[in-house]
Amino acid sequence: MVTQAQILQWLQAFALEIEQNKTYLTELDAAIGDADHGINMDRGFKKAIAQLPNVADKDIGSILKTVSMTLISSIGGASGPLYGTWFLRASAVVVLKQQLTKQELLQLLQAGLDGVLQRGKAQLGDKTMIDVLSPAVAAFRQAVEENQTTVEAMQQAVVAAQKGLEETIPMQAKKGRASYLGERSVGHQDPGGTSAYLMLKSLLEVLQ
Ligand code: ADP
Ligand code: MG
Ligand code: MG
Repeated sequence: MVTQAQILQWLQAFALEIEQNKTYLTELDAAIGDADHGINMDRGFKKAIAQLPNVADKDIGSILKTVSMTLISSIGGASGPLYGTWFLRASAVVVLKQQLTKQELLQLLQAGLDGVLQRGKAQLGDKTMIDVLSPAVAAFRQAVEENQTTVEAMQQAVVAAQKGLEETIPMQAKKGRASYLGERSVGHQDPGGTSAYLMLKSLLEVLQ
């Protein structure tokens, strides 16, 4: 089970993780983009966190929807609409829920991924956050099918996310700004994949 309180803790933890990795994320983006990913994410999640007291008594769907709206309106660039879509689509499958079973958490993770796929039109191997989110959802699904616990499934998801993130290094970017670099995007870790990994890792940490 994942409680409403854990969802609030996760959002706080992720915002803190972003703050602590702001320079790192921006450096990754400097190599293959426009050096703003850490700045974008930190600005957006600081604003999202500032809204949490207003929704502290609300259901999980309302909390995630509030985060989504804040991200869409406050993060520029590609990552604002993409993370905004992730949270919007995730929120839509957990409307009025105060806690989530592992099947419901799977639906949430799948819905978020599907939203980013539809919005960004990236495929696996394009060197984007999809290369982290997609293997993570697959690993979570497999663990649920094997009747593992929520925490075990999330551990598998984070392991798969980390592997997916490392695999972005040799990829040539096919979507987003990094794709403008062509072959010069090879040899660098994807910034959005890195923040997506931090998002999943901070969820695991609050569940443990
Ligand atoms: P911008 O590139 O507009 O400056 P950010 O630097 O905040 O935006 O975010 C860049 C990240 O967004 C990339 O590292 C990549 O993971 C992700 N991204 C870019 N385009 C797409 C897309 N079409 N689908 C999925 N993710 C994408
Ligand atoms: Mg950028
Ligand atoms: Mg930018």
